[in-house]
Amino acid sequence: MDFRFTDQQRMIRQMVREFARERVAPGARQRDETGQFPWDLFRQMAELGLLGMVTPEAYGGSQLDLLSYLIAIEELAWADASVAVGVSVHNSVCQWPIVHFGSDELKQRVLPPLARGEVLGGIMLTEPDAGSDLASLSTTYKRVGNEFVLSGSKMWITNAGIAKYFVVLATKDKSLGHRGITAFVLDAEQEGVQVDPPEKKMGLRSSVTAGVTLEEARVPAGNLLGEEGQGFKVALATLDHSRLGIAAQALGIAQAALDASLQYAKERVQFGKPIIQHQAIGFRLADMDTELEAARWLTYRAAWLAEQGGQVSRTSAQAKLFATETANRICNFAVQVFGGYGYSREYVVERLYRDVRVTTVYEGTSEVQRMVIARALERLSTTAPEA
Ligand SMILES: Cc1cc2nc3c(=O)[nH]c(=O)nc-3n(C[C@H](O)[C@H](O)[C@H](O)COP(=O)(O)OP(=O)(O)OC[C@H]3O[C@@H](n4cnc5c(N)ncnc54)[C@H](O)[C@@H]3O)c2cc1C
Repeated sequence: MDFRFTDQQRMIRQMVREFARERVAPGARQRDETGQFPWDLFRQMAELGLLGMVTPEAYGGSQLDLLSYLIAIEELAWADASVAVGVSVHNSVCQWPIVHFGSDELKQRVLPPLARGEVLGGIMLTEPDAGSDLASLSTTYKRVGNEFVLSGSKMWITNAGIAKYFVVLATKDKSLGHRGITAFVLDAEQEGVQVDPPEKKMGLRSSVTAGVTLEEARVPAGNLLGEEGQGFKVALATLDHSRLGIAAQALGIAQAALDASLQYAKERVQFGKPIIQHQAIGFRLADMDTELEAARWLTYRAAWLAEQGGQVSRTSAQAKLFATETANRICNFAVQVFGGYGYSREYVVERLYRDVRVTTVYEGTSEVQRMVIARALERLSTTAPEA
């Protein structure tokens, strides 16, 4: 077993940490207030190669190993989780399925502008009546000549209105269940795509999230991901991979909450001593540090396993479940450490508490992760000791 990072992983950590702390962190509070999407930061991240992290160099990307990618997301989330989620969606739920399921012609056409950050990407899975139960989606498609024509409503779409390319799931016939579903790459810059006003969210306020209506939106036949009827499999494979990005996002937010809590607990004096010296606070900080370390290594190990190939559904669901639930507990206690000040927008833990909340919801809720793990356990053959 080798727990050392590679030179590349160390270099990515150092480069993204520097960028996140010097450029991303300073404006995070203001962006949280205004909800302004940080185009300037995305342009700078494009120059650093952070917008093509999962895409091969042949298609304009900087293809990193999975752990390097997670390290980059973790460092960005420490500074501003809104920025981290935009980068994560653009890379891992848009470019990743195109890299793995698109034809060479499609990759040549859409990946270079995405990977170079000239345009942004996203994914449209969720609908008003189909969230966790993705197989029940209602957006339909039909073939017309050399195109597919898509109609329906999508909901909660990150980067809607600002991204050009979206991976979209639609069904040929709802009665076919998951076997009727196909995955496409949609160019959102067309008449058939209408974007609702952005959602007014609890957190991640400078990440844009909106509903989208597709009215006879057109997709060239070459924009299929996999074959017709394989869209559900494409989505599950994508989520197995991308969930680790959300785990990494949670790690970054939790580390920020722990760092802020430590600093405050050493400075704040009550009953004549810094509150870190009151055992109730000191022990809880010790638990936060320990649980965060466990979540981090569960996530890193899942990434390592994914790099070896093979089945990663269970390990990636475990990492997402544990890292996001742990991060929520850590941010919750961080507010407690700050007392009344933790409830004020003047202190960072208030934003972290709101930003972290959604990590147990999107890209599969904690309940969905438990379903994935339980199904994998059902298939596992185990031996128990005799009585
Ligand atoms: C900020 C934000 C950004 C998002 N970005 C995107 C995006 O870019 N693209 C996209 O496609 N989607 C996106 N989503 C949608 C997100 O993935 C869904 O909200 C999520 O999958 C849950 O679906 P739902 O909201 O419909 O909840 P539901 O599926 O209705 O679930 C409601 C509750 O019931 C529970 N539940 C449901 N079924 C079961 C069951 N069988 N057993 C036990 N419990 C169950 C759930 O765990 C949850 O607690 C985003 C959401 C948010 C909030």
